[in-house]
Amino acid sequence: MAFYQTPPTLGNQFDDDRVLGAYLQRALSPDVHARIVPELRAMGELSGNELYRMQIEDRLNDPQLVSWDAWGNRQDRIELSPLWKKAARLACEQGLVATAYEKQSGAASRIHQFAMVYLFDPSSDVYTCPLAMTDGAAKTLLVHRNVHDENDFAANAFKRLTSRDPERAWTSGQWMTERTGGSDVGLSEAVARAAADGRYRLYGTKWFTSTAHAQMALTLGRPEGNPAGGRGLALFYVEVFDANGGMNGISLNRLKDKLGTRKVPTAELVLDGTLATPVRGTSEGVRNITPMLNITRTWNAVCAAAGMRRGVALARDYAKRRVQFGAALSDKPLHVDTLAGMQAETEGAFHLAFRAVELLGREEAGVMTESEARLLRLVIPLAKLTTGKQAVAVVSEVLECFGGAGYVEDTGIPRLYRDVQVLPIWEGTTNVLSLDALRAIQKEGPLEELLDEIRGLAKAASDEALRSAGDQAVAAAQHAAQWIRDTFAKNPLGVESGARRFALTLGRSLELALLVRSAAHALAHGGDGRPRAAALRFASHGVDLIHDEDPALSSALGNDVPMT
Ligand SMILES: Cc1cc2nc3c(=O)[nH]c(=O)nc-3n(C[C@H](O)[C@H](O)[C@H](O)COP(=O)(O)OP(=O)(O)OC[C@H]3O[C@@H](n4cnc5c(N)ncnc54)[C@H](O)[C@@H]3O)c2cc1C
Repeated sequence: MAFYQTPPTLGNQFDDDRVLGAYLQRALSPDVHARIVPELRAMGELSGNELYRMQIEDRLNDPQLVSWDAWGNRQDRIELSPLWKKAARLACEQGLVATAYEKQSGAASRIHQFAMVYLFDPSSDVYTCPLAMTDGAAKTLLVHRNVHDENDFAANAFKRLTSRDPERAWTSGQWMTERTGGSDVGLSEAVARAAADGRYRLYGTKWFTSTAHAQMALTLGRPEGNPAGGRGLALFYVEVFDANGGMNGISLNRLKDKLGTRKVPTAELVLDGTLATPVRGTSEGVRNITPMLNITRTWNAVCAAAGMRRGVALARDYAKRRVQFGAALSDKPLHVDTLAGMQAETEGAFHLAFRAVELLGREEAGVMTESEARLLRLVIPLAKLTTGKQAVAVVSEVLECFGGAGYVEDTGIPRLYRDVQVLPIWEGTTNVLSLDALRAIQKEGPLEELLDEIRGLAKAASDEALRSAGDQAVAAAQHAAQWIRDTFAKNPLGVESGARRFALTLGRSLELALLVRSAAHALAHGGDGRPRAAALRFASHGVDLIHDEDPALSSALGNDVPMT
């Protein structure tokens, strides 16, 4: 009889996730834990079964831009894929944004929300992109406006962004990137002309606008007469549709044909007299949009961990089914070793992402200390940049774990591989966030807080091997701190060229310390040795990427990197 392979399957993604389960037991009070577990289990069931199956079937349904109707009327309507339509309703009803603002779980509300997001994301075809921007817009309006005053223009938008009613709920876009640059947004060309009643009309092109189907957006424009650069830009609130349901001076040129995130409608759009309301003043737009970026970067880190976890879950299941050379791959020591390395990276990413989530929740609940606030400023860029790189590396390995099948589209593995590639790019590239981490250290000085945090976590180590892993984390972070002090003094250019290695060293050191702490906790509460194995394995991958003797920048460019 001919041989056919059996595909991998997923079970309940909450019940199957040892790392998430143990983390929630530790991080939540018993009453919050008992209250939210049924919701998480229901989401885990959907994610591992119905949504996952639908995702595989939905593979070829990309969103479509309908520019015109049959009678020549301009439409600029986007038809979403069937999975996205389902995901939109589900996300709203399950409160994937609302949970953070309802605050039923107090300072743990962000943990509650992001545990749901983590389960939902890998089966949603990146529907978490519009959700992240919606959450970011709600937070930004909450920070800058009086959203509880019905007379404030932002009150209606805030209610809709945080609604659980799919008929009333809105999503938001974040229109920053122009042709001139996504990193250097200070170059933006969009012009804002004063209109009546304190509002403005925007003119320009926005070059990457994911969630182009959203009902509103936060965007940047330069009021006429303002200086060049980021400080001359203002942050604007835009409703996409006018009172009659027509477009508010917005036309969509096309949807981008992208490597991944293909279900996300990312448009190039033109603003031609778009009515817009300043969110806060008429300058400092880049600074004023920071609350949004902090939220979307946290979503990015959680979704990176979620994508890694999904890939590893599929690879582990497949290893039990695939027989080569007389035994299942799960019985081949080398394959198991490969999986163990991926698992360790995934656990590290999970703990770093959720450390950012914890701090964010404490800030929003008003229980944060000043030193925690400084720590949060550094942990968000570190979490975003470190987990983004890990996701790309781990999911690449996942693809190889499936051999040739991993390269075949209808297994669903190539989609996962392509989708994670965006995680180090959008919301700030690895280099841009490394420089952001440097800026935080120069301005607010959170390096001492980070060192204290790593030392404190490492102290939890309960046996010799864990102590050594904890010492490794502390030594790497201290080395990075020493390197930056020395290099600032003698070679500022060297600081910039080493920023990525510096930031990744801090990110990975924090991951290792978090792994050590969770391993010690697991040993002390029930004796599960798997987190310890993950911590030791992560330590063996190394966390210190700093070279004390960096080759001079110019000689590296001249000799090692051909530039012409
Ligand atoms: C799928 C997708 C969806 C997107 N959706 C949106 C959206 O909804 N809204 C939105 O506003 N934007 C969106 N973007 C744009 C995204 O945020 C930008 O592409 C990103 O910020 C990078 O900007 P850039 O493309 O201009 O690249 P560049 O800034 O030109 O970067 C090119 C390279 O230069 C490096 N670099 C840049 N500056 C420095 C520096 N100072 N030092 C060292 N290296 C540097 C970068 O790390 C990168 O490797 C989306 C992008 C993608 C791929």
